[in-house]
Amino acid sequence: MSLPFRWTQKGEKRTQRSAFTTAASKIGMTFEQYMSHFDAGERWCGWHQTWEAKEIFYAQPKLSTGVSSICRAAYRERSHAAKRNTI
Ligand SMILES: [Zn+2]
Repeated sequence: MSLPFRWTQKGEKRTQRSAFTTAASKIGMTFEQYMSHFDAGERWCGWHQTWEAKEIFYAQPKLSTGVSSICRAAYRERSHAAKRNTI
């Protein structure tokens, strides 16, 4: 039994809100739109530019979203892309 991470610490809520507002504006959404996906168990994948189930992301407890910014498949695709195009 565990509470959602964003309610676990006093003062955490406001910090989370500003982090989520920033994240939402980056992808052209309002805070409310962002949270409706978030509360549905979805996270934004910065690689595929879409909402995906949080289960397919890597857990990153230190981040405000609780997961990596791109999904597991994206990490694989990115590493393949990096091998093809050496920068
Ligand atoms: Zn993805």
